[in-house]
Amino acid sequence: GVDYTHEDLKSVMWVNAKEIAGNGIDDDNNGYIDDVHGINTRVRDANGAATGDPVPEHEHGTHVSGTIAAEQNNGIGIAGIAGNVKIMAIRTVPADADETDKDVVESYLYAGKHGAKLINCSFGKSKNEGGMIVSEAIKHIGETYGTLVVAAAGNDSWGPFSWFNIDVNLRYPASYNNEHLLVIAATTAAGGLATFSNVGKVNVDVAAPGQDVYSTVPGNGYSSMSGTSMATPTTVGVAAQVLSYYPKLSPLELKQVLMKSVTPVSAFAGKMVTGGRVDLSSALKYAEANFAERGAK
Ligand code: CA
Repeated sequence: GVDYTHEDLKSVMWVNAKEIAGNGIDDDNNGYIDDVHGINTRVRDANGAATGDPVPEHEHGTHVSGTIAAEQNNGIGIAGIAGNVKIMAIRTVPADADETDKDVVESYLYAGKHGAKLINCSFGKSKNEGGMIVSEAIKHIGETYGTLVVAAAGNDSWGPFSWFNIDVNLRYPASYNNEHLLVIAATTAAGGLATFSNVGKVNVDVAAPGQDVYSTVPGNGYSSMSGTSMATPTTVGVAAQVLSYYPKLSPLELKQVLMKSVTPVSAFAGKMVTGGRVDLSSALKYAEANFAERGAK
């Protein structure tokens, strides 16, 4: 959920232009009533449909949203990483329990169908009761709608003594072997690997800052949080900024840009595919050098 009334987020919320707020009617006939900023799969109506109010019951989604997109140059709060991005709010995860594969799939499909190019998944769990349906949905929305799914590696490590390896101890969605998925480890502010961050030389792709990240929380508030949940929106913000300059990049091309342009960190070698930290400046240079024809004209 996202506090879409937050002073530093309300101007960057995605709006379903075909839906009239609060009239109790599914104006755009997409199966959801009053889905003005997204949907809430945790609160369902008498017909079993996800409701149209992604109001938060936890600080997580609002914090993640601010890192990506909080309004820049408004003189309050913080500035999100991306300057030309909208947040579609889809509440999928219970406040204190695991999300269901069914809800995750519905959320991915809603996001893809309604134009989201990046999905921030600051969540994960150790069971996938739906088998491969979540992974199949990631592939489907990538190929059908051009949507890239970005997921947190998880926070089970006790580094530097014991790094939790999600190639061995699987976490979902992060451990799916899926080319349409980008998986994120967390660094400290100083650039080292955060002690809580999961690793995996097959399943974890890149690292990004995720410790003591200051961002928005519900009720016009701000706070610092740590986790691969915070490193994921750092990466999504970079990806969104790249996409705003190169909007014709496919999801696999965008993933390539982010992975090929990392700043290598020797301590990360063998702990993730790239062994490096996401870098916006390098990503833009890589995109210009390799995908100039995907740029905005
Ligand atoms: Ca609707």
